[in-house]
Amino acid sequence: MSCTFCKIVGKQSPSTPVYEDELVYAFADIHPKAPVHILIVPREHIGSLNEGGKDKQALLGHLLWAAAEIACQKKLGNGYRIVVNTGGDAGQSVDHLHLHLLGGRLLTWPPG
Ligand code: 5GP
Ligand code: ZN
Repeated sequence: MSCTFCKIVGKQSPSTPVYEDELVYAFADIHPKAPVHILIVPREHIGSLNEGGKDKQALLGHLLWAAAEIACQKKLGNGYRIVVNTGGDAGQSVDHLHLHLLGGRLLTWPPG
């Protein structure tokens, strides 16, 4: 198993956990781009949003629900952003689907 995030989910690599349940695992980004920067990933390996087929609809919805739940726990009532970089042009650097939850500062629009 060579996937960075599969290793984190499987506890073969260390991480700082934020939330977990039977479907998802959330942990602090190692290079935070905001005061709150959390990655939310499915426990099962899905390479990117492009591989999240119709049979994954419930899981994809659960990932979004978990992101909102964590944002609430982190008291991001002033706002936050969910980012899902998909593919090379978007800068996806880890090929295991992940949601970025960013907050705790003013976020400019549009993103770069
Ligand atoms: P991407 O560029 O694929 O959208 O985001 C990948 C994210 O994963 C980056 O923000 C990067 O800092 C984070 N990351 C990469 N490797 C690790 C790691 O081993 N541990 C943690 N906690 N974050 C990682
Ligand atoms: Zn993986």
